[in-house]
Amino acid sequence: MATPLTLAMIRRAPKALLHDHLDGGLRPATVLEIAEQTGYDGLPATDEAALAAWFRTAAHSGSLVRYLEPFAHTVAVMQTPQSLHRVAFECVEDLAADNVVYAEVRFAPELHIDRGLSLDEVVDAVLAGFADGEKAAAAAGRPIVVRCLVTAMRHAARSLGIAELAIRFRDRGVVGFDIAGAEAGYPPTRHLDAFEYMRTNNARFTIHAGEAFGLPSIHEALAYCGADRLGHGVRIVDDIDVLPDGTARLGTLAAILRDKRVPLEMCPSSNVQTGAVDSIASHPFDLLARLRFRVTVNTDNRLMSDTTMSQEMLRLVEAFGYGWSDLERFTINAMKSAFIHFDERLAIIDEVIKPRYAVLLG
Ligand SMILES: [Zn+2]
Repeated sequence: MATPLTLAMIRRAPKALLHDHLDGGLRPATVLEIAEQTGYDGLPATDEAALAAWFRTAAHSGSLVRYLEPFAHTVAVMQTPQSLHRVAFECVEDLAADNVVYAEVRFAPELHIDRGLSLDEVVDAVLAGFADGEKAAAAAGRPIVVRCLVTAMRHAARSLGIAELAIRFRDRGVVGFDIAGAEAGYPPTRHLDAFEYMRTNNARFTIHAGEAFGLPSIHEALAYCGADRLGHGVRIVDDIDVLPDGTARLGTLAAILRDKRVPLEMCPSSNVQTGAVDSIASHPFDLLARLRFRVTVNTDNRLMSDTTMSQEMLRLVEAFGYGWSDLERFTINAMKSAFIHFDERLAIIDEVIKPRYAVLLG
């Protein structure tokens, strides 16, 4: 039996991240400083430790709708080009410090226009922050590639405009589109025109589905919308019967999802906090991994879930006894599922992930 992996060991491994929200990953100190600079006085706490604790507690609410409430405060301090740039820059810095080598970070531009910025100005500021963050990380010896997904809010009616924004910025760092927000009552088919726009432009998108709401949402995302990936998708487990002898029988939805190798962007801590699953130990991640679904490990919201990529991996290691070869497989799964071009994905797999894992595997 090999020595169990520790947080310090996992931090050294190269990691790929597909599902991380920019407005869910701010540093508490940054939230406080920008609030001070911009005159936002709505924060629930005035010192760093208390604010961090407040975000953590608010997220442990057991429902997706309540989990989303604290975002009002992070979004409120991301309304100027300077603050958007800073938050994007620090996001890259924090991911690189955790040895994330590739990340797709998403955010909803429509939430950042309260002080008069245009959607394009919002995206410009974030992309500049990412680019400057990449340069700083490379200079510090921790190279990372960060790309952007633009998200439309599923309860709103702007999704076509946001899909157009994604295409307008496709050569400047935006590699895809997503819809997010409260799932129940807002099925993905409300946004068919946006998904069709992406498809007709040969562009890719993911959909938050099967998190707070079950199989119908996943079915719509795949069958009607044509999602390239699923945000979470954990409730696909409801279409799988595990028989007493341990074998599994897949329903038609689970089968097509696996047959088509649709990546599942699973976020263990967040999935527990929103009530999508009861505990890490009962998370369907392991069953889905054993059944060879295209599983990936993600952070979702590093601030609200008080987590990092390494911590999410550690939680899975502790629950399911994974070793280096498992973590390498999940990482390559993520890299294969990225929305950058095939040759770029391959280069990161062959030149970064595999060689560095070869060292770890000894
Ligand atoms: Zn998410």
